[in-house]
Amino acid sequence: MEIPSTVSRTIDSGAKTQQSSSRLCPQTLSTMKGYDYRWFYGHPIPFVRYQDRVGEGAFPLFGYQNLRFLSTKYCTNCQAILTGPDDMCGDCRESPLFRRLRCILDGPGVPFGKQCTGDNPACDLQPWADAICYTDWMLYVVSVFGLVKVGISRREKGNCSVGFTQRIISQGAGEWIAFGPLRDMETAQRTEDELSNDLSLTQRVTSAEKWNYINYGKEDVPLPREEVLRWTENQGIPLYMEGSFAEYFTSMPDNPYPVFGTVKDGVQGSLCWSRGSIAVFEHNGNRTAYDLAELAGLSTVGGL
Ligand SMILES: [Zn+2]
Ligand SMILES: [Zn+2]
Repeated sequence: MEIPSTVSRTIDSGAKTQQSSSRLCPQTLSTMKGYDYRWFYGHPIPFVRYQDRVGEGAFPLFGYQNLRFLSTKYCTNCQAILTGPDDMCGDCRESPLFRRLRCILDGPGVPFGKQCTGDNPACDLQPWADAICYTDWMLYVVSVFGLVKVGISRREKGNCSVGFTQRIISQGAGEWIAFGPLRDMETAQRTEDELSNDLSLTQRVTSAEKWNYINYGKEDVPLPREEVLRWTENQGIPLYMEGSFAEYFTSMPDNPYPVFGTVKDGVQGSLCWSRGSIAVFEHNGNRTAYDLAELAGLSTVGGL
C-alpha cells in the first residue's frame, strides 16, 4: 500500500531533557506499553501503545519516526521509577486490576489464591468476569516466522465480533486457522496447553527465532492442517474461521538488508517493512530492524 507522505511524526525531546532531571515534567512523560496492529482500510498497521499521566494512547508507525528514550525505566502503569527488570512496579503488580490481568496468564483465581467460578469470581468483580474470563474464547494455530504457533484470544475485542483476528495479526501470522468458541478462559488455557503438547506446537516465538527468520530469509511453513483438524474434531471443537495474512506493511526490501538495532538506543527513520513485532526502519539509505516487543517500559518526554 502507499503510505501518505504528509503523515509524519517526530518525538525528539527525550535526548535534551535527559540532561537535567528537574526538567522531567510528569505531565509529558510517556511510557511505552507495547505494540499492536489495527485495521486501516483492510490493512494491518502497527501501532505503539503508551501511557501518560492522563491515560492510555496509541499512534501508528506512519511516516518518519524519531523515537528517543530516557535511560530511566518507569512503571508502565503508574510511572514510578523502576530498578528491576519488570515493566511494572511491585505495587501495581499486586493491585486488583493487575491480579485480574494475571488471571489470563496464570489461570482464573490463581493470583488471588482463591477458586474462581462464573457465579462467584475470585476478583469479586462480576462484570469483569462476565466480559473477560467467562465469555467466548478462541483457539488458533498460526504460521509465524517459520514456526507453527498455537494461541488463544477472546473472540470479541474492541467492539468487533471477530476481535481475535487482531491478536493473530499482531503476532505476524501468515496462514491461520481458528477454532471455537470455547466457553471460558480456563477451557481455552487448558485446550491450548493440550494441543501444544500433543502436536508439539510452540506457544511463544522468541526474539532470536524472529531475527533468525529475517536474517536467513526463511519461508513460512505450511500449517499441519489435517493433523490439527483431526485433533480438534476429537475434542469436539468446531473450526470457526481460517485465512491468510500474506500482505503486511509492504514487502521486505532485498537491498540493503537491515541490520538489527536495539529499541532503547532509539528508533529513527520511516517504516519500510513490518511483520508482528519486527519492524524495519529506513534512515539515510540504511535499514535497521527492531523488535517492537522491547518497547514496553521505555519512556520519552514530550508530546506524542
Ligand atoms: Zn506502578
Ligand atoms: Zn477472573
